[in-house]
Amino acid sequence: MVMAVPWVCIGPNVPLWILRAQIVGVLDPEEAYPRRRIDAIDFVVDGFVVSGARLRGVGAAVREGRIGVRVGSTGPHFGAAYSRGPNRHFTFGAYDFQPNDGWRSVVVHEAVHASFDLANERPPNEIDEAAAYLGETVWFRAGGLARSVTAPAAAAAIYGAANEIVARLNLHASRGQRLLRSQVQELIAAINAHPGYSPSQPP
Ligand SMILES: [Zn+2]
Repeated sequence: MVMAVPWVCIGPNVPLWILRAQIVGVLDPEEAYPRRRIDAIDFVVDGFVVSGARLRGVGAAVREGRIGVRVGSTGPHFGAAYSRGPNRHFTFGAYDFQPNDGWRSVVVHEAVHASFDLANERPPNEIDEAAAYLGETVWFRAGGLARSVTAPAAAAAIYGAANEIVARLNLHASRGQRLLRSQVQELIAAINAHPGYSPSQPP
């Protein structure tokens, strides 16, 4: 996803253990406030479960080294990426010394992808992305904070659609909802219109 926050790049020898600890701190925190934000994530999209329990599991996998962390190229469109498979890992476009909620929401987004991978689930691309954008949006709203996103139009359309769905369904406050594909179709359309995502072929 596209980040509006400034990155601080310190070159190739980044302290990855710090980065790992920062990720774990987002996904599997001990303090009540960040825990409440993660636990607010609790919904199903098109049959795929997105939950705080799963995200804490991703945090544990990062802590234990079962999911790697790298800093490197993530392409022209996004500031972070998740790679599936035996060498599963997060990649960040740069290392941020002072993470803010924009950075943390990126971690939540990529962790939703990782949670499907750990569960051996392969949702279609647009459902995978819709779940990730809804997850990060729920996380933001559950923190009680206003979010302002400065992003190119195609990315802004995705955030707008995700925000609209979360607000309409009260998804950050009413847990356990099962969303049909038809309930997230505007979000899917915005994702498929973004140049960074290749739409799945229709069945
Ligand atoms: Zn994504």
